[in-house]
Amino acid sequence: MIRAPMLPSRAPARAESMFDVAIVGGGIVGLATACAMLEAAPRTRLVVLEKEARPGMHQTGHNSGVLHSGLYYKPGSSKAKTCVLGAQRMLAYCAARRLPCRVVGKVVVAVDERELPRLDELERRGTANGVAGLRRIGADALREIEPFARGVAALHVPGAAIVDYAAVALALADDVRALGGELRLSCAVRGARRETSGWRLVTERGDVAVHRLVTCGGLWSDRLAALAEGRRQDVRIVPFRGEYWRLREDKEHWVNGLIYPVPDPRFPFLGVHFTRMVGGGVECGPNAVLALRRDGYRRGDFSIRDALSTLCWPGFWRLAARHFATGAAESWRSHRRSAFATALRRLGPPVTAEDLVPADAGVRAQALQRNGALVDDFLVVDTPDSMHVLNAPSPAATASLAIGTELASRALRNRFLPI
Ligand SMILES: Cc1cc2nc3c(=O)[nH]c(=O)nc-3n(C[C@H](O)[C@H](O)[C@H](O)COP(=O)(O)OP(=O)(O)OC[C@H]3O[C@@H](n4cnc5c(N)ncnc54)[C@H](O)[C@@H]3O)c2cc1C
Repeated sequence: MIRAPMLPSRAPARAESMFDVAIVGGGIVGLATACAMLEAAPRTRLVVLEKEARPGMHQTGHNSGVLHSGLYYKPGSSKAKTCVLGAQRMLAYCAARRLPCRVVGKVVVAVDERELPRLDELERRGTANGVAGLRRIGADALREIEPFARGVAALHVPGAAIVDYAAVALALADDVRALGGELRLSCAVRGARRETSGWRLVTERGDVAVHRLVTCGGLWSDRLAALAEGRRQDVRIVPFRGEYWRLREDKEHWVNGLIYPVPDPRFPFLGVHFTRMVGGGVECGPNAVLALRRDGYRRGDFSIRDALSTLCWPGFWRLAARHFATGAAESWRSHRRSAFATALRRLGPPVTAEDLVPADAGVRAQALQRNGALVDDFLVVDTPDSMHVLNAPSPAATASLAIGTELASRALRNRFLPI
């Protein structure tokens, strides 16, 4: 337990217990940021505080495991820039650390003519973002790559890969320690107070004194920012559960790599798709249904605090009014395996309800504005002595190493790190 007075820099007690930077959140973004900061300024006394007993137990450990290529994101956006760069770096990192990773290729399929304008837009974005190897293909070429997929045209990204982000998080946690940082697990941050020379963080395992605070709290990012800044944020995290099914083993040959639909541009979600997993098997999903608990991985999970946090946010009702039909259809598919199978069949493979086996779900942290607009890009807000990552949904796992580098540069500019 650390109960250190905040003493001036020459005092020995400070050297033991006053950190330069605390990063709250040991998901892939917090850990990648910690490594980038320690690499940029090796003298930094840095601690990562994570509430769970292991790093990467929330979004980082419950996702599709896809290394996104950069097709979907608005050119010039932070998502576009960090995704393309982050994917290259993640491939190299996995190779260097011998972590599970495989290039399997991806197709985005326009199932009928009406989807062609949206496919055109994706092609334009992908080209502008510099997605390597991207090409437009017709129905025959599609069948050569994915024999069971059906569509009038598709985009093919041969370099798309699959990884195990939970394993990446564990490797990054090792790197944090190897670079001289500290990782405190089972150490939830419950309070944050500004003091003369920095912050006093109240944690489950005692107070931590620190000069600068960085929060990367995923599903709890808005609450952590509010805890530190003492005021409500302009965005609220609304949790959307993504449910998956697995293809029965004898049907796995229907899918070689990644088969995606053309996404609905009104939403940041990609639509249910087929994903070959690096650990074996083929997952189908995820859908996107409102979760009534931030870590609500099962359908019945409920937290009064989390439910009220969503329901009392004006933006939620604006979003719900605008997209009532889509929300209702997603809920219906969530309860009916056959409806889920129907959505998958649009892409070609002849899936029926009997081919699907339940699999684990994940919960996405999506920031929502008061006016009901979903925050599209990554969002980081800073003050002279703190930095808060408020929106880091997909493709933040792909982009994590590049996001970490960006946050470390920002920290250097803002004099968070000793150089
Ligand atoms: C269903 C699903 C599918 C996805 N598929 C992909 C994909 O294929 N490719 C991709 O690139 N991205 C994907 N994503 C998105 C990706 O998983 C996330 O963008 C990424 O993991 C975000 O990382 P993070 O570190 O910000 O958040 P998290 O991994 O959620 O980490 C936040 C951490 O903060 C900790 N924390 C919170 N509050 C406190 C506190 N008070 N004290 C201490 N610790 C705290 C939490 O315990 C948690 O470990 C998917 C997400 C979901 C849910």
